[in-house]
Amino acid sequence: KKLNSIELRQMWLDFFKSKKHSIIKSASLIPENDPTVLFTTAGMHPLVPYLLGQPHPGGNRLANVQKCVRTGDIDDVGDNRHCTFFEMLGNWSLGDYFKEDMIKWSYEFLTDAKYLAIPVERLAVSVFEGDSDAPKDTESAKIWQECGIKKEQIFFLKKEHNWWGPAGITGPCGPDTEMFVDTKKPKCSKDCSPACNCGKYVEIWNDVFMQYFKNADGSFTQLKNKNVDTGMGLERTLCMLNGFDSVYETDIFTPAINKIEVLSGCKYADNLQAFRVIADHIRTATFMLGDERGVVPGNIGQGYILRRLIRRAVRYGRSLNLTQGSLAVLSETFVEIYKDIYPEIYSNKDKIYAELNREEERFSKTLVAGLKEFEKIVNSLNGSKIDGATAFKLYDTYGFPIEITVELAGEKRLTVDTQGFDEAFKAHQAKSQAGRRREFQGRTGGRKRNCYKASYGHASFTSRAKKEPDEL
Ligand code: ATP
Ligand code: MG
Ligand code: MG
Ligand code: MG
Repeated sequence: KKLNSIELRQMWLDFFKSKKHSIIKSASLIPENDPTVLFTTAGMHPLVPYLLGQPHPGGNRLANVQKCVRTGDIDDVGDNRHCTFFEMLGNWSLGDYFKEDMIKWSYEFLTDAKYLAIPVERLAVSVFEGDSDAPKDTESAKIWQECGIKKEQIFFLKKEHNWWGPAGITGPCGPDTEMFVDTKKPKCSKDCSPACNCGKYVEIWNDVFMQYFKNADGSFTQLKNKNVDTGMGLERTLCMLNGFDSVYETDIFTPAINKIEVLSGCKYADNLQAFRVIADHIRTATFMLGDERGVVPGNIGQGYILRRLIRRAVRYGRSLNLTQGSLAVLSETFVEIYKDIYPEIYSNKDKIYAELNREEERFSKTLVAGLKEFEKIVNSLNGSKIDGATAFKLYDTYGFPIEITVELAGEKRLTVDTQGFDEAFKAHQAKSQAGRRREFQGRTGGRKRNCYKASYGHASFTSRAKKEPDEL
């Protein structure tokens, strides 16, 4: 069935309304009460207190469309199905219905002619195979079979694929069951399954059954109030329904992709990676800047991620000869698409364009010189590893986020000593502690490049970022 983004969003909400769910608003992209993550990564995230037992004003059946950002997926952007920002269609049972209803509804939504109308032979599902900790989820498998999914299309997989649990040691957890579109490509091997990621099976939806509580001693107790948490990717599902090669061919991205072709004179088909990175990163930046708890580019926390995305888009943009101002023009295509669904994007549009232009201009000033410097470094390199101090110079003098240096190096089959970079960063920070107060004051009259703080966006920084006062 060919649907566009507006139709699919509405169909989702209507379906769950018909199953007596309250429709709730998308929460902000910036989590309000969770210092452990920078962005809302899933629809369930803002609902954690309610999943833990607090009554929700909307009742115990909820559904929505949630704005999500997954920084961990940035490096996957360019493939056919991972975006940095995406919309998750979600529904929840807070101690109300459980596996039986949810799997039957999932089957109905996926296959019924009124809804997605996916032929049943094009579906595959995975369920938890069980281990020494927790039993095999035979219940879910049985319900899928009763619905009409053939045995060969039901895959039993390990915890890493079919288990949802808290980041900490204790808390609610349980098996999940994922739904895939079987592209009908040939199996990559005898053991080809949704776990092998060869592209034959594309995941579109995940039903999580929070069934247990994991205790501090590692044991599991059945929860009195079992919850359901599901999430379906809007872009991905549209892509699969329409038979597109990637999410970038959906109605959400085509205006941006077309605009990049016009502005650059280059063809999308010849520059898939660059077009996709630019389109993805500008869409994400548009949502971060336009959020009700909006972010601006900076050197720590969310601001750093935003800066990194914009700068990467600038770098790819220059490789296609996009000129200053292009980012804001591309952002307009997204504002147009989302203005009725996320009104905050529309009301903040001037801020979005201004910040994009400002950050683009800032980075443009040092990018060309920085790339020349990078060439020099490569030419004089002994071995295949760029040392930390050199990477730090690219950061400090030319504004290259460490991830961009790592990416540039990768293109030359080189690596970067990121640990050395961390050390150089910290050493520099210690040295500049004394001058910091002055830098803070200096910022109002034009931000200084050197005015950064301790976090710059990889591994350990997630927890650190929030503990420090934001430099802005
Ligand atoms: P994958 O294995 O493909 O990375 P996931 O298992 O990490 O997906 P979930 O956490 O189960 O994803 O999220 C629910 C749904 O959200 C997925 O089934 C998928 O449709 C969608 N989704 C997840 N990550 C992305 C992304 N980076 N871009 C677009 N859609 C996504
Ligand atoms: Mg993932
Ligand atoms: Mg998955
Ligand atoms: Mg999943």
